Amino acid sequence: MSEISIQNVEVSLDNHKILKGIDFKISSGKILALIGPNGAGKSTCMRTLAGLIKPDTGKVSINSKSLNSFSDLRASCGYLIEGADFYGYLSAIENLNLLSSLSSSMNSPEKVLSMVGLSESAHKKVKQFSMGMKQRLGIAQALLSDPDFLILDEPFNGLDIEIKEEVLSLIQNLRDQGKGILISTHLLEEIEALADDFILLDAGRVFMSGDLKSHQENEQVVTFSFDKDFDFTDLQVKVVSQSTRHVSIQTDKEDAKEILKTLISKDQSPYKIEWSGILKDNYKKILDQ
Ligand code: ADP
Ligand code: MG
Repeated sequence: MSEISIQNVEVSLDNHKILKGIDFKISSGKILALIGPNGAGKSTCMRTLAGLIKPDTGKVSINSKSLNSFSDLRASCGYLIEGADFYGYLSAIENLNLLSSLSSSMNSPEKVLSMVGLSESAHKKVKQFSMGMKQRLGIAQALLSDPDFLILDEPFNGLDIEIKEEVLSLIQNLRDQGKGILISTHLLEEIEALADDFILLDAGRVFMSGDLKSHQENEQVVTFSFDKDFDFTDLQVKVVSQSTRHVSIQTDKEDAKEILKTLISKDQSPYKIEWSGILKDNYKKILDQ
């Protein structure tokens, strides 16, 4: 298993400290979600990892071996930063041929197009591509060097729901093929279900970080909403808060399914079921402070 370790990254832009000491690890076969409100420093982090910004301090190592500079990361990473730019009047394959002639590509343009499900559009001009196709082409160009790691800055921006699902499952496939992925996004629920680990940034600092899977196995708060008054007293549940039409209970996924079955059998189906989420809850804490 390979791992990129980033320690104590500090970045200043225009004499302002933007990143104030960030630490994290990107591991192969795992998705690390980089979350935070606008201006928290997510893109600055990614630009630093691409060697586009020189940090004031910070150490980077791959498999515990120190690298001299953040630009040295480029040999191991593929990037999609702030949406990739392509020549609209060239086809997908022509754009990728051009990119691969400029760098030492390990994967052929045909192969990366097939990895992102664009083989059939290889000869279509990029100006005729939908947003979702362009985003997938952006991921394809990031895969040209057959990198162990992918750095994806807001890859769902501007995509409609259906295409988001496609790109989410593409990212999941790439993780399952063993890529280590750092991804920033505002899709908190979707990424919470998909990612393995998270870092929540607030104003250039790590507000919270950890492993999402262990949080998901623990009990969470689930809120059921009903369109008529409902008495919860005969259900054996840990009620966190309750009003006549809403009840929040602490439970895990399996017990929640049982509770739902019981409710349905009593003809008391809720019209809405909402799970708390570690990302959603803590993101809200940042906004509320
Ligand atoms: P995010 O991607 O989380 O929205 P950014 O990394 O883009 O945040 O920005 C973090 C902070 O850095 C913001 O306050 C932004 O205004 C500032 N910033 C970004 N780029 C520059 C720049 N080139 N010069 C000065 N400040 C910048
Ligand atoms: Mg950004």
